[in-house]
Amino acid sequence: MREVEHVRCPLCGGDDARQLSVQKGIYGVVKCRVCGLTYLCPRPTKRGIAAIYNEQYYKDPAVGYPDYLKTFHQHRETILQIFDERLRAVSQFKRGGRILEVGCAYGLLLDYFRKHGWETYGVELSQTSARYAQDVLGLDVQNVPLKRAQFPDLFFDVILMLDVVEHLADHKSAFEVIRRILKDDGIVVVQVPYELFHWEKVLQAIASGRRPGTIAPDAVPAHLCFFTPRTLRLMLEKHGFFVLKRESGNYGRIRERIFPPSTDSKFLICRLLKVIYYRLGVRKLLRWLAPKLKQGSGIIFYVSKRI
Ligand SMILES: [Zn+2]
Repeated sequence: MREVEHVRCPLCGGDDARQLSVQKGIYGVVKCRVCGLTYLCPRPTKRGIAAIYNEQYYKDPAVGYPDYLKTFHQHRETILQIFDERLRAVSQFKRGGRILEVGCAYGLLLDYFRKHGWETYGVELSQTSARYAQDVLGLDVQNVPLKRAQFPDLFFDVILMLDVVEHLADHKSAFEVIRRILKDDGIVVVQVPYELFHWEKVLQAIASGRRPGTIAPDAVPAHLCFFTPRTLRLMLEKHGFFVLKRESGNYGRIRERIFPPSTDSKFLICRLLKVIYYRLGVRKLLRWLAPKLKQGSGIIFYVSKRI
């Protein structure tokens, strides 16, 4: 039996939410009537959430990342190009120093930063991937939750939280740690998927005859919050940060290259539209254009702490 619990809104603490859908027969996707955050409720208990990040996380395609290393080697050039974009994006603010990646997985991005002169550190919950980062790549990675990691105060120039904040069960304690270990002039890069209310998801919902917000979000129950740019900003401000810059990316870029979206449909017209959209370059064009218009399916904020 999967244990679940009812939670209050992770952003405003309210307890008045409208249900949008039920996922996997048990997890509710709800939208807070007070602040507008969409979140999972009921969701797994603390113990259940911790269990998601066991060994299976890098094997189970439903919540995690199967064949992570194989994918890296197969798509090395694309991935290195993404790493390079990241390095250049961070360099707008800091040209070097100490960098921490929260949820660094196998440490591949950190390894890339290290090769470019950064002093790198990581924390990672999964033992499988943390061990690889430590033993194979020789990185300084702690296999503990962020709040148990040992770092001095005011230590980091840059902290990366890439596709992490939507997984957090307790934003308050995580951001307290981040504030403590970040230098006063340091920056945090926060990236989350723009799920459910991104234009592409809204169109998908309408095309399948459903209300926006009701289609299945990614990686339930590992994802606990489904942010929009507005709710992410509010969350960061609530915990003592201010936004320096907002960028937009494409979430799931690599995964989609490996598993192209299906064009299946029971209706011929839908199948035809899907083929035009997914296979004939329409989507490619939109996904190229969207980040330039800040309409990509990944939300990226560069934030500093309020002192
Ligand atoms: Zn709320």
